[in-house]
Amino acid sequence: MNQTLPEHIPVAIAGGGPVGLTLSALLTRQGVANVVIEADEGYCSGSRAICISRRSQEILGWVGADAALVAKGLGWVGGRSHFRQTEVLHFQMPSEPTQRFAPMVNIQQFSIEEFAHQAMGEGASVFWNHRVRSVKRQEGGVTLTVDSPDGERTLRADWLVACDGGRSTVREQLGLQLEGTQYEGRYVIVDIRQKTQRPVERLAWFDPPSNPGSTILMHRQPDDVWRIDYQIRDDEDPLEAVKPENVLPRVQSHLDMIGETEPWEPLWISIYNAKCLTLPSYRHGRVLFAGDAAHLVPIFGVRGLNSGLDDAGNLAWKLARVIHGRSQDALLDSYSTERVHAARENIAYGAKSTEFMAPPDFAFRLMREAALRLAVDDPHVRALINPRQSAPIAYAGSPLNAGEDAGWTNAMAAPGAPAPEALLRSEHGDFHITQRYGQGFVCLVFGGAAPPLPAQVQALPITPAMDVHGQAWQRHGLRHADEAALVLVRPDGYVMGRWHGLDGAPLAQALQTTGVSA
Ligand SMILES: Cc1cc2nc3c(=O)[nH]c(=O)nc-3n(C[C@H](O)[C@H](O)[C@H](O)COP(=O)(O)OP(=O)(O)OC[C@H]3O[C@@H](n4cnc5c(N)ncnc54)[C@H](O)[C@@H]3O)c2cc1C
Repeated sequence: MNQTLPEHIPVAIAGGGPVGLTLSALLTRQGVANVVIEADEGYCSGSRAICISRRSQEILGWVGADAALVAKGLGWVGGRSHFRQTEVLHFQMPSEPTQRFAPMVNIQQFSIEEFAHQAMGEGASVFWNHRVRSVKRQEGGVTLTVDSPDGERTLRADWLVACDGGRSTVREQLGLQLEGTQYEGRYVIVDIRQKTQRPVERLAWFDPPSNPGSTILMHRQPDDVWRIDYQIRDDEDPLEAVKPENVLPRVQSHLDMIGETEPWEPLWISIYNAKCLTLPSYRHGRVLFAGDAAHLVPIFGVRGLNSGLDDAGNLAWKLARVIHGRSQDALLDSYSTERVHAARENIAYGAKSTEFMAPPDFAFRLMREAALRLAVDDPHVRALINPRQSAPIAYAGSPLNAGEDAGWTNAMAAPGAPAPEALLRSEHGDFHITQRYGQGFVCLVFGGAAPPLPAQVQALPITPAMDVHGQAWQRHGLRHADEAALVLVRPDGYVMGRWHGLDGAPLAQALQTTGVSA
């Protein structure tokens, strides 16, 4: 039986990719009814995101989708780069034995979509096979025309979030343009099935004997699937390059070179070129943009889906507060300010990685070859070729950051920074501090009893006995374990402000002056 779209909904989400589905699940946790309108009949297929960052795992954890992800995904902490056949870099991402999540997990994008969908609670539904055709903005909301299996439907929504991907219909309907650059270099993306005993690592070869002049990347995924990306020559026709007769010999020659001898079969072949594009603003009245509809970043450094989930995490609590009348409407402007800043940072990192992976001209190629040659013998040069993977971006200059006093020992947890992880002990057992984030405001209380706090803020007192590893007080920049301080953590796990002493008044004032408290 076909579902019937409601006539009116507080939030409509255009696009049920990983970002739209996760946003929907986050909004239901915040008590906001929503519908997801998805053009396809189900989850995505083919070669899309595979590397899911620790931060994304935390965000998925806010809706209870982390357990399935960890159970199926393949965690990894580092990788190896080779120049020709010589290993020139063995990198490790920051990780510790007490960590909650691996720094990165490999899993197919359709699984992320499935887990996010399963996490959608009461008050949300996905309308598969429904395509947003037109968007009309009006006072107090939008009217959508939707093509459904039963014909055209009309839906009024108080708010519309465009999560409809790189070719966003909503963006087009509003007459908006992405700004930035597009790279010429093209990569063939091949997923194959082959059994292997290799550890899970990110593997790269520059100018390998199997494919001279090319760059090859390999990632293991669950179910014996390998992702192999290789750069094609500038003079190759992209349509020819993806034909199996041209792809399979190159893959075979690479597998021969690295000694993988098990039988294999191709699952999917596509072609990719890197784009560094963003909208200059993600808020247009009651229409908001998130994920690929808002920005397109190169796959190198894995910031596309990961940054889209951060968009969803940033937006959900703000939109919920505005809808519930707890915050001023202007709070949503901070969504745009913070996430456009993050996209620009991600684009800058992504552009550097792209220029290394697929040098755009002779000068870049020469520099890369010099760095790779030197890295064979000189460990100091190896830092230059370390592929920096996706990490949460600090919101320096955010209008929500509360001013901070002097005397902190580090800036790791300064206002606007993602609150650092810490393993704490309670009478019920050990827990990670990030498990307490993702729902509402949390005030970490160091060095004494919690003062009176605004009703919306939950106190989390941290005593030295709880902070058994000293991670919380040290990472939050305190001088010693008993020092008195308050740290206000936003519902998306970012630090909003920190104050020495145990006076709750400046914290309450910060919530007022930033418009977080209506
Ligand atoms: C080869 C490759 C590898 C990648 N690897 C990584 C990686 O390892 N890590 C990472 O973080 N990112 C990676 N990415 C990027 C990642 O895939 C995207 O950033 C991610 O899919 C963005 O999610 P989204 O929900 O914003 O958009 P999409 O996944 O594009 O979803 C948009 C949805 O909107 C629907 N839609 C479109 N138009 C309409 C309409 N008019 N009405 C209704 N529905 C509509 C579409 O059907 C689609 O389901 C990779 C991308 C590629 C191509």
